[in-house]
Amino acid sequence: MAIKKGLASLQGYNKELLDAAAERNRPKADWFKWDNKTEVYMNFLQELDPDSDNYDEAQGLGVVAIEHFSVQEDFRKKRHALCTAESQGACWACDQHRNDRKAGWGPKSSLYITVAYAFSEDEKPKRGVLTRNFNSSFGQDVLAEAVDENTIVGRTYKVRKSGAGTTTAWSLKPSKTFQMDTSGLEAYDLENTVLREIAVDQQPAFYGYAQDGGEIGVSVAPTESTQEKPPAANDEW
Ligand SMILES: [Zn+2]
Repeated sequence: MAIKKGLASLQGYNKELLDAAAERNRPKADWFKWDNKTEVYMNFLQELDPDSDNYDEAQGLGVVAIEHFSVQEDFRKKRHALCTAESQGACWACDQHRNDRKAGWGPKSSLYITVAYAFSEDEKPKRGVLTRNFNSSFGQDVLAEAVDENTIVGRTYKVRKSGAGTTTAWSLKPSKTFQMDTSGLEAYDLENTVLREIAVDQQPAFYGYAQDGGEIGVSVAPTESTQEKPPAANDEW
């Protein structure tokens, strides 16, 4: 409605404006992208555990997030938010999943971690957030490396991509010949850049649905700026 009347309406509208401003001012992160390459040198800038050998509090931790991704065509892959079943005691996306197990609303676990990467030994390393299905072979390899070596920070890996589409696999191997210089590259604060928790009553609109969740209706115009999209590398679900 173009006219807001009454204090409740004005306060609600005010909150919408504040939320929108907070969203715009949210720090942004760059993503790790393959750029059509299939081999990359990579250093993790974050450990997975504070007890790991090279944990640095200032760099924080890589995390696994339990999330839902919108199944609305315009929002697919762009809109993803943390499952709130535990934190808020309710989760709209989980409800959708219970109503229709085949609709694609099931929770997904994704590894998020800041990496430095370069496609050749001469290239200046770039910083980006890597995201990958935690249940993928790559997710499991990173976990195994962190457990076996008690660190994943401070060594350079060679990561190779093979296959295509949903059968894409990434392999992880320590490089025997190359050590990347990552000095000065700071990890992202993942929880305040790429992850977000949405209040349960805001979730239908966030995921691109009408408030009642029944009839599908786009209630928010899809914009790239509303949320950065994880790169297309987010396959192998
Ligand atoms: Zn959920």
